[in-house]
Amino acid sequence: MNIVLQHIASTFVSCKHQPLINFRDGLTIDPFIPPRRKDKVVIVMGATGTGKSRLSIDLAKHFSAEIVNSDKMQIYEGLDIVTNKVTDKETCGIQHHLLSIIDPNEVFTATDFCQRATKAVDSIISKGQLPIIAGGSNSYIKALVNDDIEFKSRYECCFLWIDVNLKILQRFVSERVDKMVKEGLVEEAREFFNPDGDYTSGIRRAIGVPEMHQYFINENNKMINEDTRDKMLQIAIEKIKVNTFKLACCQRQNILRLESQLEWKINRLDATEAFEKKDGESHQAWNRIVYEPSTQIVRHFRGE
Ligand code: ATP
Repeated sequence: MNIVLQHIASTFVSCKHQPLINFRDGLTIDPFIPPRRKDKVVIVMGATGTGKSRLSIDLAKHFSAEIVNSDKMQIYEGLDIVTNKVTDKETCGIQHHLLSIIDPNEVFTATDFCQRATKAVDSIISKGQLPIIAGGSNSYIKALVNDDIEFKSRYECCFLWIDVNLKILQRFVSERVDKMVKEGLVEEAREFFNPDGDYTSGIRRAIGVPEMHQYFINENNKMINEDTRDKMLQIAIEKIKVNTFKLACCQRQNILRLESQLEWKINRLDATEAFEKKDGESHQAWNRIVYEPSTQIVRHFRGE
């Protein structure tokens, strides 16, 4: 027998209860050991304004979890109001990863996200906690779950999608913009005003910054009276509302595409009723139609 074939024959001893491969240094691999079970990761998806942060914090409290942000603007430092980051109080002490970690002028890509998110998920699992990835950037989620071979080979994902009727969501995001303006959106956006009008990189792309450009250019113009300035501000705020709703529609379409084209099994939770009601009733509806079903789904996913 050819020497190479002889070597192969002696190395691959195929017997049910013996190691199949013997390496010279004594390392053996038993092909009958089942492959390592994949670690579990929960992914909370949804358009802007649907309550992804709220649900992920609710779940994190219940399951002892930590949260990995997947919103491509919230990854940057700054614009806390404009990008609607969770406040310290809202985090309820739950550890958040990939939030405000990148310089606002830096380029941060989907590949960077995959590397950082995988590292964060590893560290959460090493602490015996459940990783919850939450955020609206579906291109980042797709890059991680579908295109990143390392992540795909090591983790099993459970997808939760908070969906809200678009008409109802439009009203909600419009009111949210008014609230942001009261909380200091204009002052925050002014820090990133670029007289050249270039808003194509870093955090400057965030909805709320380019829309303010015309207003900032003219706000110190002595030829413009106060009335006109106020009107310019109202136009900018209206643009922010329109673009935020456009973003919500695109994000929803992208989730539907991931479901239909990549055949992801996404658990849809219709939160509309919680958005139609107010105060205590809204809270009760949220628990009944979003929080409790999500808890059941995650429990089942974890084999509990
Ligand atoms: P796309 O490929 O269109 O960028 P995506 O899934 O990668 O989609 P999205 O999260 O939908 O990313 O963000 C698209 C754009 O919407 C961002 O480039 C930014 O202009 C704006 N945007 C996203 N999230 C926020 C946010 N939290 N605050 C303000 N603007 C945001």
